[in-house]
Amino acid sequence: MLTIGCHLSSAKGYLAMGKQAKALNANTFQFFTRNPRGSKAKPVNEADMEAYSSFARQHGIGPLVAHAPYTLNPASADPGLRDFALRVMAEDLATLERLPAVYYNFHPGCHVGQGIEAGIAWIAQALNRLIAPEQRTIVLLETMSGKGSEIGSSFEELAEIIRRVERPDKLGVCLDTCHVYSAGYDIRNDLDGVLEQFDRVLGMERLKAIHLNDSMTPFASRKDRHEKIGQGSLGMTAFEQIVRHPILKMLPFELETPNELDGYAAEIALLRARAEKEE
Ligand code: FE
Ligand code: FE
Ligand code: ZN
Repeated sequence: MLTIGCHLSSAKGYLAMGKQAKALNANTFQFFTRNPRGSKAKPVNEADMEAYSSFARQHGIGPLVAHAPYTLNPASADPGLRDFALRVMAEDLATLERLPAVYYNFHPGCHVGQGIEAGIAWIAQALNRLIAPEQRTIVLLETMSGKGSEIGSSFEELAEIIRRVERPDKLGVCLDTCHVYSAGYDIRNDLDGVLEQFDRVLGMERLKAIHLNDSMTPFASRKDRHEKIGQGSLGMTAFEQIVRHPILKMLPFELETPNELDGYAAEIALLRARAEKEE
């Protein structure tokens, strides 16, 4: 059975997200650790986290993906902004240690004119400060579309960040289907070729989660506009291949498509059906 779910609002807490996921026939979900604009986190509600944990165990939910605020920039030239990113991420990671199975996904950052090399060095430095040897949570670098000065739109850039981190065993990669297609990896016509490249550059074991999004923009557009599954430039056949792929189908899939809850339920049902359909 696929592990599939969608991005949910964390406004009502963890147990509420768990129940919401269940109602959508999801067995995983993603959430923002705080307001995506990166403001203060709500105080930790241990009782809610414990209640969620037993609900998740009972209903076979997880692993989850916690998404860091996308406005953080650990690659910034501004030491104040780098510090802020580090502080937020450290606080998030401390909180997430209370959950049974969760990945912490973040956008590597933007170099904003410093050049890729300088940006990569800052990201690696941040991860080296952030990662504690005893932490259980694996930190995921998300593959990016390459809009503006985004770092992480090539597998090589992600590999270079990981190579510079002292505890690479605490790192993984989350592949966003919209982003990689926009970045010029043709998962529509050559999924196996792209995965071979991923394996060669990063190692397949680094791949821990998938963001499932169709794209509003054409191949290699370097834009980041998510579309509903099957309604964009990737199209339904691409997603059918993805959810039926022997390696990918074992990973947690998170939908980040422009949908309300009923739309997510429909996409989850559709993808489950395609995954299980006989040849
Ligand atoms: Fe993201
Ligand atoms: Fe994503
Ligand atoms: Zn995106």
